[in-house]
Amino acid sequence: MNENIQSMTQGEISQLLKALGQPAFRSKQVYTWLHKGVRSYGEMTNLPKALRDVLEEKYPLHIPKVVRKQESAKDGTIKYLWELSDGNCVETVLMRYHYGNSVCISTEVGCRMGCAFCASTLGGLVRPLEPYEMLNQVLFTQVDSGLPISHIVLMGIGEPLDNFDNVMRFLELVNSEDGMNISMRHISLSTCGLVPGIDRLAEKKLQLTLSVSLHAPTDEIRNTIMPVNKAYPTEQLLAACRRYYEKTGRRISFEYAMINGVNDTPEAAKTLLKRLKGLPAHMNLIPLNHVEESPLKPSTRQAVQTFQKLLEDGGIPATVRRTLGSDIDASCGQLRRKYTQQQSQKE
Ligand code: SAH
Repeated sequence: MNENIQSMTQGEISQLLKALGQPAFRSKQVYTWLHKGVRSYGEMTNLPKALRDVLEEKYPLHIPKVVRKQESAKDGTIKYLWELSDGNCVETVLMRYHYGNSVCISTEVGCRMGCAFCASTLGGLVRPLEPYEMLNQVLFTQVDSGLPISHIVLMGIGEPLDNFDNVMRFLELVNSEDGMNISMRHISLSTCGLVPGIDRLAEKKLQLTLSVSLHAPTDEIRNTIMPVNKAYPTEQLLAACRRYYEKTGRRISFEYAMINGVNDTPEAAKTLLKRLKGLPAHMNLIPLNHVEESPLKPSTRQAVQTFQKLLEDGGIPATVRRTLGSDIDASCGQLRRKYTQQQSQKE
């Protein structure tokens, strides 16, 4: 059993309360409070004081602290940098769309995938996040901002399929009826392409959207920007996407960061069309967010438009992602990176 009460299912909480001699109805009370984002057992006002004291002693709550909060003046995007109980930091971004409020959460502290364009991976992987540490990002973003969260994307720091079991447990918690009850259809999970993880996920037949960070049409190009491609080359990755579609019936959403002179030529678009033939897909074109440490630059507007048109004409729906929060370092790992650099300069 997971020893942190905030990572437990309602069934597990019910077992622990039973062991403490509590009546059955208490588990729903405790679970509901935890999933409202209370900061202490003291707030669980319908529990007897004696029980609150025992829980406090045996299962202390871990609540993330806001160390930085930045709000975009342009579009209302809010970025949080949280400090976890062990002093590590992760980022969460709240984005406001016409269909509701969406949070982009981190799944690991750092990342070991080494993508050339990404700020999250520069310091490597520190540790995976526990299920409750993912849940708390959603809960406390909602509590702090006062904005109801209806959508989640697992696209922050870390590789979700590299932290498979904890991510699955998080999904179960956030989707639960007495919890936040966020529909799987409102959740997207993004991966750099860990093939065994995609196959494991397919077995679960979840209704979530799988996003695959493709970023290149060939191994030749992908190898230069994504080290993971050496382990799982594009042919294996696209085969896994086809299996995923067959198992789940869910269309794959591909991420494609447009990088000037690297992957944005008309030839690249044509190769993509050939390789994705017959696979129901959607292409998300994202103008690269420039990261200080990297020589890679975003594609021109013209290149993005031409690329999009070629894909659409070839039968692949392609949208250009609006960049939100560009004035607040809102892209992957940039805020944590700045903060940890500032801290180490102080030392
Ligand atoms: N590890 C997962 C999820 C986290 S990254 C994955 O790789 O999919 C979320 C998305 O942001 C990925 O598509 C990633 O490739 C993309 N990304 C990272 N850095 C970026 C940057 N500087 N500009 C544009 N997209 C970026």
